[in-house]
Amino acid sequence: MHDVTAIAKAQPHSLIGKAFRFAKKAHAGQKRKSSDPYFSHVVATADTLLSWNLDEVTIAAGLLHDVVEDTPVQHEELARHFGEEIAALVDGVTKLGRIKYRGAERKVESLRKLIFAISKDLRVVFIKLADRLHNMRTLNALPREKQKRIALETDEIYAAIAYRLGMHNLSGELHDLAFPYLYPKEYRWLKTAIPERYSERMRYLERIAPTVEQCLKDHRITPQQIDFRAKRYSSLYFKLLRHGMDFDKIYDLVAFRIIVRSVEECYAALGAIHQSWPPLPGRIKDYIASPKPNNYRSLHTTVIGPEGKIVEFQIRTKEMHEENEYGIAAHWIYKQQQKKGKRNTVPSAEEITWIQQLKQWYEQYSLNPEHALHAMKIDFFKGRIFALTPKGDVVDLPEGATPVDFAYRIHTEIGNGCVGAKVNGTFVPLNYRLQSGDLVEIIAQKNKLPSQDWLRFVKTSLARDHIKAALRKKRGSLYLKKPSKTEFLIVAEDRVGLIKDITTAIARSHVNIIQFRTQSQAGNKFPIDKVQCDLTDRKKIEKLVLKIKKIDGVKEVRYRIL
Ligand code: MN
Repeated sequence: MHDVTAIAKAQPHSLIGKAFRFAKKAHAGQKRKSSDPYFSHVVATADTLLSWNLDEVTIAAGLLHDVVEDTPVQHEELARHFGEEIAALVDGVTKLGRIKYRGAERKVESLRKLIFAISKDLRVVFIKLADRLHNMRTLNALPREKQKRIALETDEIYAAIAYRLGMHNLSGELHDLAFPYLYPKEYRWLKTAIPERYSERMRYLERIAPTVEQCLKDHRITPQQIDFRAKRYSSLYFKLLRHGMDFDKIYDLVAFRIIVRSVEECYAALGAIHQSWPPLPGRIKDYIASPKPNNYRSLHTTVIGPEGKIVEFQIRTKEMHEENEYGIAAHWIYKQQQKKGKRNTVPSAEEITWIQQLKQWYEQYSLNPEHALHAMKIDFFKGRIFALTPKGDVVDLPEGATPVDFAYRIHTEIGNGCVGAKVNGTFVPLNYRLQSGDLVEIIAQKNKLPSQDWLRFVKTSLARDHIKAALRKKRGSLYLKKPSKTEFLIVAEDRVGLIKDITTAIARSHVNIIQFRTQSQAGNKFPIDKVQCDLTDRKKIEKLVLKIKKIDGVKEVRYRIL
């Protein structure tokens, strides 16, 4: 059955049936801005979750996702009728609804993390994404200012989250739905410029499709499906920008998508195509051997096709295709063993924990899909907390961080001048341990010096360094500090596993790492890793340098004692 209404009618005593009636009653009489009954929104949300093949608990929570926020029903009542699990999912969605993003590039990444941290369960993120998809599809009904804010939030936060989760189709649709609101002029231009070019390309691909099919058959490959993928408006626009608005340089306006039976056939099909039509150099992409960090897998190539026209091909198996569409959600449907491909794309240091957690999720599902739901708990922010400034900016801190750490993260002057702090409206001592979601207000005095005592409770090295620096300045040259740590500067090739090899080598020498940072500039093949260790013994340091130098890909190692 393809919609929850049909399921609720056919199985009135199922969880979905019960949730359907409960939500209908709770939202009775409520209207959306579009004058549709409010209930239609939660049904659409649940239908989307169903189309992603999610389980009935998630679908039921989708039906109930707005009752706590928008009706008198409270957590307790929901828990009594549907259990703690569903009530907790609805709570998560309700909390997410309180986050408002108004565009501040610096904060985008923290906000995406905050959304995961607040969600606590990946299913909350799915429900929120399905909810947002329907809100975007009906955004027209809202006032202009609201349209812009929601479109921006969708574009920069939710589409990005969908992308990270490997839900390409959703991510693309969210970007596309936001595009007309964020770039109205550009959208109008594309709408006049594109259709003809699309249909022209489409006609060409349709014309040559039999030739492509024959070419594959000549190589004993029977494609399961050959279809066309038209590039989305929003991504087309940004690609056009990079290519001087020249449509002729966009080779993938419409691309062939070939679905074959096995990985072997993917490569065989690529070979067959290359034998018939010369590939353009530098345009062959093997995302099967090296999947994108979000697990996208496919072969891409661009060739000079029949009639001398340039054509892009995407070749993949059905499993890959469905995983590329549904991302992490696909693991509910396909219980196939996930093959671990080698990954060559190196995420930035900041993204590592984030991507590793996603990887872990993927792996957990493939190992034990039946229990996948229990593995949905989001714990990769263990050790991190997210506090908010009075303006709603997110500050990412280590667990145990205090208002002083928070203050230094805002500004050195505010850190030095910190005299008091309010958390959620109440005064707290400066050594108070902050919690995720705390709203922190710092009371600061100008031209004040930090207190030596703070060194005993601050958690971040940023705060510690600033406090020491300010105190040192005060005492002038009399303040001589013993060296306490060593910073290694490691220049190395950008390769997967390098950071792990370095940290393993250091750990084997029984040396603690205080801090690990990677400095990488775009286009730089050799990023610099900066590793601070609690080590001051020269002999040991020299030994460690030799060890690190032996690691594959390491070009140079220097150090300085701090
Ligand atoms: Mn909603």
